[in-house]
Amino acid sequence: MTTAPEPSGRVVIVGGGIAGLAAALFLRGRAAEVIVLEGAPRLGGKLAVSEVGGIAVDAGAEALLARRPEAVDLVTEVGLAGHLVYPGTTAASIWSRGELRPLPRRQYMGVPGDFDDLERTGIVSPDGMARARQDAALPATAWDGDVSVAEFVGARFGPEVVDRLVEPLLGGVYAGRPDLLSARATLGSVVAAAGAHASLARAVASLLGPAPDPAVPPAPRPPVFTTLDGGLGSLPGPLAAASGAVIRTGATVRELARTATGWRLTVGPASAPEAIDADAVILALPARPAGRLLASVPGAAPAATALAEIEYASMGVVTLAYPASAFASVPDGSGYLVPAVDGRTVKAATYSTVKWPHLTDGAMHVVRCSVGRFGEEAVLQRDDADLVALAAAELSEATGVSGAPVDARVTRWGGGLPQYTVGHLDRVRRIRETVAVLPGLAVCGAAYDGIGVPACVGTARLAADQVSAWLGEHRVGEREPGTVAHAGE
Ligand SMILES: Cc1cc2nc3c(=O)[nH]c(=O)nc-3n(C[C@H](O)[C@H](O)[C@H](O)COP(=O)(O)OP(=O)(O)OC[C@H]3O[C@@H](n4cnc5c(N)ncnc54)[C@H](O)[C@@H]3O)c2cc1C
Repeated sequence: MTTAPEPSGRVVIVGGGIAGLAAALFLRGRAAEVIVLEGAPRLGGKLAVSEVGGIAVDAGAEALLARRPEAVDLVTEVGLAGHLVYPGTTAASIWSRGELRPLPRRQYMGVPGDFDDLERTGIVSPDGMARARQDAALPATAWDGDVSVAEFVGARFGPEVVDRLVEPLLGGVYAGRPDLLSARATLGSVVAAAGAHASLARAVASLLGPAPDPAVPPAPRPPVFTTLDGGLGSLPGPLAAASGAVIRTGATVRELARTATGWRLTVGPASAPEAIDADAVILALPARPAGRLLASVPGAAPAATALAEIEYASMGVVTLAYPASAFASVPDGSGYLVPAVDGRTVKAATYSTVKWPHLTDGAMHVVRCSVGRFGEEAVLQRDDADLVALAAAELSEATGVSGAPVDARVTRWGGGLPQYTVGHLDRVRRIRETVAVLPGLAVCGAAYDGIGVPACVGTARLAADQVSAWLGEHRVGEREPGTVAHAGE
C-alpha cells in the first residue's frame, strides 16, 4: 500500500472575496501552507451584511442560485447547511408602460418562449408584440461569431422586447447594456438552442420544457434560490476559518514577480514594502488588479491585455426600512425590475422581508433598491441623502408606500460587476491559455465564467485543482511556515 505524499509548498491567494476564500478551502490539506492576502480591512469582497432598521440585510450579493451545486456544496462543506433558508416568493414584476406587470413565466433571462404568455403581461405594447410574433415566420438568422444580446434578440423579436424585457433582466444581473453584452457569454444556452430552431421563441421553449397544463396543479419544485439566515455576508468569516489558511486583511498586493523557484509578492505601502515568497499563486481578483499584477510578469502580456479589456459597471444598493403600516398591504411578490428606457434611477427593487420571510416578524419591511448601470456612474456621485430620497420617491410611485423610510443604508460598489461584452469568451480563453504556461499560477473570480457566486466558486475549484496538480508534479522543498522575505533580500 502506498501512502499519499505529504502536502508541500506555499500557495498565496491574492483576494479574499468568495473566490479567494473558496480556493483556500479547496486547498486545505493539499498544500503545506496557504496564505490569503486581502487588500481591504474586511474579508468577503461583494459579500457583506449589516443592519438596516434592526434587520441584518445583505449589502451585496443576497441570493444563491440553488440549481447550481457549487455554492450550496461550499456552504455544506463549511458546516452551515443548517442555516440555508429559502424565499417565500420569487414572483417578480416589471414596472413597464406605467404599471407593475408580472414577469412572463415562459422566458429565459427575459428572452420569451411563449408570445401569448408575454402578451398577457402587457410589458410590451401591441406594436411591439406584433413585431415579436414575426419571429415564427422569419427565415433562420445566421450568426457569424459572437454578437451583442441586442442584435441576437432584436433580429428575431424587434427592439421593444430587448428594451422592456431582456434589458431589465440582464441589467439586473450585470448592470449592463444589451447592445454591448455578449450573447454567447450571457445567453450561452439560448444561443446553443437557437442553432437547432429557426424561431428563437421555439429555441427558448425547448429549454423551458413543455408548458404546464393550467388544469393540473403544479408539482412542487425545489427552490431556485437560497441564502443564509444571517445573510450571504455571514459566509466569509466561517469559510475563512474552515479553510485553515493564514488570512491577512489590509494586505494589498502591489507587485508580482517570478523568482528562480517560484513567485515573490510585494505587499503593503511603498514606504514599508514586505515581500512574501510563494511556490504557487492564485489571483482571485477583479480583472483590473489581476491585469495590473500580471503586466510586469514575463510571458503574461496577452493575459494582462485581455484582462484590461474587461470593463466594469459601478452600482449602488440603497436599502430602505419602513414600518409595515407604510404599505397599504404586504408588497406583492419579491420585487420589480425597471427598463432603462423609462429613464428612472432605480433599476430594481427587492422586497427583502417578503422575499426572505426569515427576516421579519411582519412589523417592518426592508426594500433593497439597485441604482446605476454601466456608463451611469454619475448617479453614484449624489450624496447618500439624495440617493435615499430618489429611491424612496420612485418606490412610492411604484408601490404607493407612504412616508419616509425610518432607516436607510447606501452601499456603493465602484467597479462592482464585470461586463461580459462581445468577445468575452475569446478574452477568457486568451487569459487561461497564457496563465496555463506560467508555472504554479492560476486565476479565479467573477471576471471569467459567470458573475454569480456559484460560478465564482466553480472557478475557485478549478484554480485550486490546477495549483494542487502543479504542486504535486513539482514537489517543492519544505519552507518554514510563516516565513517571509523582506524586499531587497
Ligand atoms: C450589489 C451586488 C449584488 C449582487 N448580487 C448577487 C446575488 O444576489 N447572487 C449572486 O450569485 N451574485 C451576486 N452578485 C455577484 C457576486 O457577488 C460577485 O460576482 C462575487 O461575489 C465576486 O466574488 P470575487 O471573489 O470574484 O470578487 P470580489 O468579491 O470582488 O473579491 C475580490 C477581492 O480582492 C480584493 N483585492 C483587490 N485588489 C487587491 C490587491 N491588489 N491585493 C489584495 N486584495 C485585492 C478586493 O478587496 C476584494 O475583496 C452581486 C454583486 C453585487 C456588486
